[in-house]
Amino acid sequence: MTGNRQVRLAARPQGLPTEADFDVTEAPAPEPADGQLVVQVRFISLDPAMRGWMNDAPSYIPPVRIGEVMRAGAVGRVVASRHPDYAEGDHVSGALGVQQYAVSDGSGLIKVDPEAAALPVYLGALGMTGMTAYFGLLEIGRPEPGQTVVVSGAAGAVGSAVGQIAKLKGCRAVGIAGGEDKVRFVVEELGFDACIDYKAGDVRAALREHAPDGVDVYFDNVGNPILDAVLTHIARGARVVICGAIAQYNADTVEGPSNYLQLLVRRSTMQGFVVFDYADRYAQAAREIAGWMADGRFTSLQDIVCGSVDTFPQVLQQLFDGDNVGKLVLEVQHV
Ligand code: NAP
Repeated sequence: MTGNRQVRLAARPQGLPTEADFDVTEAPAPEPADGQLVVQVRFISLDPAMRGWMNDAPSYIPPVRIGEVMRAGAVGRVVASRHPDYAEGDHVSGALGVQQYAVSDGSGLIKVDPEAAALPVYLGALGMTGMTAYFGLLEIGRPEPGQTVVVSGAAGAVGSAVGQIAKLKGCRAVGIAGGEDKVRFVVEELGFDACIDYKAGDVRAALREHAPDGVDVYFDNVGNPILDAVLTHIARGARVVICGAIAQYNADTVEGPSNYLQLLVRRSTMQGFVVFDYADRYAQAAREIAGWMADGRFTSLQDIVCGSVDTFPQVLQQLFDGDNVGKLVLEVQHV
């Protein structure tokens, strides 16, 4: 083990995060104390939520403090252990942070099996991404066979999983994504019934075409202005699932929907959720998703960028530029 490069939050970003908002520091390689283990971080999850964690504002999780190692989900390999439940060579997933090596007392760690699935899949379909799609759609969206499910961010990590689960449940799946290539991919490779290119034109007109009887479930990953467009076309009794609002995360003032009275007219509900509330059911959901993958009925999509922890700020930017297809992951090269 060499030194430990760590990416720390240096400043609260104004708008889009930049490299100047982070410091890269180097500490001596860590040694585990009694009851601890050291994990070599191999794959780091890039999440839109990271932008919210950088703000000094109360949320469902405390902000990252200035000077603290940037919070991140990751998977890695145990390289030293003085913990009774972990041995050198085990692989684990957890909030390991943007750093080469993480010291842990085991809290919040989950052992993962690299023989059962490639390590990045534990950040994708078998990790928080898959859990978000599964519980958000099935518990909050409650789709019924034959209904129309619309999902934004359809070529992204959560969105690509939501559309596939909707199809598995017998629904019509309509995506919304940016650009021709993503739209084609979502329909041709993931089996959605249709996908709307929100960058190409009028989302409302496209919804009338692709969801002629209205939208029964809208799984929202992006927020306004797309949320407002979909609200104009919801069916009676629709469920609008507020998963996230990436289009608003860098804004000084969050723009909410002005068409919310459609909820009244259409006797519909709009409900947010936080995936962590389903933690005691993750294992059951992961077993079901793994079964779909084994049957060839579900594709776990990872978009893996090879680099070092130093490249984290540039890779994070890709989420906001729409560069990723599927789960964006930074593979940490250890030389
Ligand atoms: P993702 O969708 O893989 O990546 C972000 C995608 O968002 C980009 O590829 C881009 O796709 C799209 N995007 C970026 N800026 C946009 C804009 N201004 N308008 C419309 N689309 C834009 O990310 P993810 O990890 O799957 O997360 C999706 C959402 O789920 C996020 O809002 C995240 O915060 C939320 N989330 C919530 C929970 C929860 O517990 N509630 C848990 C996990 C994630 P295009 O090229 O198509 O624009």
